[in-house]
Amino acid sequence: AFPFLGEAVIPLVNKLQDIFSQLGSASTIDLPQVAVVGSQSSGKSSVLEALVGRDFLPRGSDVCTRRPLVLQLVQTSRRPEDRAELVEWGEFLHIPGRRFTDFEAIRKEIQAETDRELGTNKGISEKQIRLKIFSPNVLNITLVDLPGITKVPVGDQPNDIEARVRTMILSYIKHDTCIILAVSPANADLANSDALQMARIADPDGSRTIGVITKLDIMDRGTDARNFLLGNVIPLRLGYIGVVNRSQEDVIANKSIRDALVFEESFFRSKPVYHSLADRCGIPQLAIRLNTILVQHIRAILPDLKARISTQMINIQKELASYGELTESKSGQGALLLNILTKYSHGFQSVVDGKNEEMSTT
Ligand code: GDP
Ligand code: MG
Repeated sequence: AFPFLGEAVIPLVNKLQDIFSQLGSASTIDLPQVAVVGSQSSGKSSVLEALVGRDFLPRGSDVCTRRPLVLQLVQTSRRPEDRAELVEWGEFLHIPGRRFTDFEAIRKEIQAETDRELGTNKGISEKQIRLKIFSPNVLNITLVDLPGITKVPVGDQPNDIEARVRTMILSYIKHDTCIILAVSPANADLANSDALQMARIADPDGSRTIGVITKLDIMDRGTDARNFLLGNVIPLRLGYIGVVNRSQEDVIANKSIRDALVFEESFFRSKPVYHSLADRCGIPQLAIRLNTILVQHIRAILPDLKARISTQMINIQKELASYGELTESKSGQGALLLNILTKYSHGFQSVVDGKNEEMSTT
């Protein structure tokens, strides 16, 4: 069973985001997101997929993620009487209204939309692909899958590919409201980790960075990731989680996420060196850690959010006053904002009261 994030907080925040973007001011509000950073093929897309619990991201040993993918997960009703075929689907911003119920088709559309913009020769762009996944089995959260850092341009990539990708990554992770999953493979030295280096630039005191160590299954014989996970190599305030994702062979063989999680669990069980680190091992632990951090994070930014909404309201009221004749629709907007503020205050209160800290499981 997977842990789920506090269910009342994030839908509220996502709703605010939607409403604010309708008011044409999406950029004035920074909302919590989770972004993955790291070098190419470190396992970023694999980690995101495992957290979502569905197969739909392009993954592989070459450059796969070539545009930022902003993935908004929306938890739908879990009532069993809901019709099965409608239970999980995806929708792209660039194809409004079309429900993708086949997740393989979602993967193909991500690839096709990447190619439409960039051709097939490894070019990279900062233009987002936006995808919503509706499911009873997801965390209510926005995740960002980013292209990985590479050093040597290939295909259509410009000479300054490394600098460009770094700038693109920074534009996401610099926001105080972004939680950084810094993904580093266990089969390379952590001191060389692009992920930890970038995370440190964006989040110097490490208050919103979780270290994720992938590929524990393919470390050099005789080595293990204990010292990484304990923070003995590079300390990280919020610590590290070690994971085992699917290998390229598993990807080719179409191994399911469920089977991969079962394998991961048996991997950690079979390695005595990890037994005392059980709370730092495995995708489910990463989900739990994210849950806790996210609730704390939202709690911390809510007062600021409230101030911004108030400012927005005052501005709209001023605008409203200046229109005179048109008060009808503008007062409608004022009422809308008042409504938002009230809802938001309720959410805030229940977070303060700790009501959203409970995790439910499936
Ligand atoms: P990204 O470029 O950082 O998004 O990395 P991907 O998620 O596309 O993974 C790159 C390659 O590494 C793929 O072939 C994955 O199957 C493989 N891979 C990722 N994580 C692991 C892991 O924990 N163990 C093993 N054996 N392979 C992994
Ligand atoms: Mg990727």
